[in-house]
Amino acid sequence: MERVTTPIGVPLALPLAEPATSAPATRGALIDQHGRIARDLRISLTDRCNLRCDYCMPAEGLPWQPREQHLTAEEIVRIVGVLAELGISTVRLTGGEPLLRRDLPELLAAIHAIPGIEDVALTTNGVLLERQAAALAAAGGARLNVSLDTTDREGFKAITRRDDLDRVLAGLIEARRHPELTPIKLNAVALKGVTEPALDGLLAVAASVDAELRFIEPMPLDAGHRWTPDDGLSGAELRKLLSARGEVRPLPAPASATARRFELGDSGQVVGFISSVSEPFCSSCDRLRLTADGNLRSCLFSHEEGDLRTLLRNGASNAELADRISGTVWRKPQGHGMNEPGFRPPERPMSAIGG
Ligand code: SAM
Ligand code: SF4
Repeated sequence: MERVTTPIGVPLALPLAEPATSAPATRGALIDQHGRIARDLRISLTDRCNLRCDYCMPAEGLPWQPREQHLTAEEIVRIVGVLAELGISTVRLTGGEPLLRRDLPELLAAIHAIPGIEDVALTTNGVLLERQAAALAAAGGARLNVSLDTTDREGFKAITRRDDLDRVLAGLIEARRHPELTPIKLNAVALKGVTEPALDGLLAVAASVDAELRFIEPMPLDAGHRWTPDDGLSGAELRKLLSARGEVRPLPAPASATARRFELGDSGQVVGFISSVSEPFCSSCDRLRLTADGNLRSCLFSHEEGDLRTLLRNGASNAELADRISGTVWRKPQGHGMNEPGFRPPERPMSAIGG
């Protein structure tokens, strides 16, 4: 095993070297049976969280996975190395709440060092960001998505069941001081009755930290299975509301983009919409997900997982890992099926998959 020192000077044992017994994985092999090629990996670093967002987790939390089942930083780096050989070039760290992982800066630095990984991003609720921003920046930084559904303190408490709005805002301001943590995006779940009165506050906070504001339609991934198609505001409904504040002009986007982006009025502030329910983008989806306990999923909504942790811990070679990865990707479902009769949500909630 090769031992390297990360940019922040923390030595990390990285199994970068291919075990002598295995054949090298073939670059660009991650194609599914519908012809899509996987390039983006989302890694859940933990299923735990310090908030309890109503559309995600019950107030009492969930039965957390035992920590020994979570992949270690070294195991994550090994898997990302194999995936990078297979053509993955962008990585997003998420959870649960990724800033709860004490080894996050070391892991971030190690992922930056993997050949083939060109872009690293982080999705966080921002509660611990003020304290950790400097360490994350020193570890090579990341594009940052901070989740914030309202800037109203009581509204924030009602959604997240915690009184932490000020910490999130302080985290955003601190992140803004570190160029390594840009660009910043503010992600709001578009909820009927919550988002309409929150629009102006969200636009103002986004502008103040130079962030793009994005609205995400709620999906049937809440642990309580209480989601209904009527919970959310569609991108079209939100654009109608925004048009009362000025012209909403579409911006060009690559065909593979998940967000439709628009420019607002005279300010030119950019707002994006991720409308997975009303405007699914499954046909161009290039994502894979690795759960905190080491299972590979080809779709948020798959019912199949490729167990990489057991393989790894039983001493599998990189070629054996690559085999399981390619098989899991090959069987990626054609679409999420949310709008079809008989739709069955996945067994894991969003927080245990990695959003
Ligand atoms: N805890 C971090 C956070 O909230 O940013 C990262 C994990 S969270 C699961 C990732 C994203 O998923 C957040 O932006 C959150 O708002 C979103 N999310 C959670 N549950 C959702 C649901 N049922 N539908 C749509 N988005 C959801
Ligand atoms: Fe935690 Fe993120 Fe889920 Fe909210 S959305 S409960 S912050 S994992």
